[in-house]
Amino acid sequence: MSSATTSCWTTSAAETARIAPRRTGAAWLLPFVFLLAACAPEPEVWRFEGATMGTTWHVTLVDPPAGLAREAAAAGVEGALERVNAQMSTYRADSEVSRFNRAAPGEWFAVSADTAAVVATALEVHQGSGGAFDITVGPLVDLWGFGAGSKATDRVPSDAEVAAAAARVGSDALRVRADPPALFKSADREIDLSAIAKGFGVDRAALWLEGNGVANYMVEVGGEVRTRGRNPQGEKWRIGIEAPELLQQGHAIAAVALSGESVATSGDYRNYFEAGGRHYSHTIDPATARPVEHALASVTVVAPDCKSADALATAIDVLGPDKGLAFAERENLAVYLLVRAGAGFESRHSPAFAPFLGTAAAKETP
Ligand code: ADP
Ligand code: MG
Repeated sequence: MSSATTSCWTTSAAETARIAPRRTGAAWLLPFVFLLAACAPEPEVWRFEGATMGTTWHVTLVDPPAGLAREAAAAGVEGALERVNAQMSTYRADSEVSRFNRAAPGEWFAVSADTAAVVATALEVHQGSGGAFDITVGPLVDLWGFGAGSKATDRVPSDAEVAAAAARVGSDALRVRADPPALFKSADREIDLSAIAKGFGVDRAALWLEGNGVANYMVEVGGEVRTRGRNPQGEKWRIGIEAPELLQQGHAIAAVALSGESVATSGDYRNYFEAGGRHYSHTIDPATARPVEHALASVTVVAPDCKSADALATAIDVLGPDKGLAFAERENLAVYLLVRAGAGFESRHSPAFAPFLGTAAAKETP
């Protein structure tokens, strides 16, 4: 009896663990799924992965619909991600965003409905965060050595250089319209969708799957995740939040349990440089035109869609632990913070985050 029970169960941990190299985009959400295969019929599980937007992506499907071929599902996800990259990458000179960045101010510039929707969300988060989230920070991102147009020099720019770049920053000069979709700038501005486009790519891939009848999935691009339905063991999807200092071991400090929601993380310990004993993050505070300086190591946001989760995580990363948590509570956002405290970290979360905080072993009640 006991041997029968034992042979019916197999366990394998850490389905995916990625360590993204410095300067290639953060990915410290660690999707981990504990596979417990009981005697019940095993669900069909498909896994796909690849590279996009300077980082990696992973997709898991459970019990895909009968009419969907494996190759078609992989091609659908890849196609959705490629489309977003072609629309929004500043690493591609021919993307809509790169062409808008080169266009003269003062005229409406036609873009896809997708790009207009992403910019509309970016402007909403800009307003909501009191300007902390600003997709026009590109000149400062480049100046500090983190952008598509910059080399990683690990050099602290002069005050005059910072002032000159800051003069070209400000989302107040941007407008967006949905019909027909177009962008407008009233002054010299470039947009950088790095802090929101990965999340939107996740949404697009997820919506392709939903449109093709997939009821259970986890889509992840560079640490930003969207879920639906159940994981291979019939439970909610569990996404680990990495502990900054234990990065090399892929150690998760906490887990969120999701079914139908998205999660995104921003932080300052993946993509940074050090000079003169100081730590310079790739997140720029538009108010100071300098990399953020506070004790917040990472912020994780759960939201209905991944585009919003991604943008809000960056916004709160700019605001810092105190203003960021106050913003989350005011807006009823589900937010989890890891704050540096002495030699370690302290976690804080908003009330709306509590329902998602689970342990890896927690069982779901139907
Ligand atoms: P990651 O790319 O590491 O997942 P984020 O989603 O937080 O992290 O995006 C960080 C990127 O966003 C930076 O590399 C930069 O291109 C851009 N960025 C930096 N500061 C801001 C800001 N205040 N508002 C919007 N985008 C920003
Ligand atoms: Mg972001």
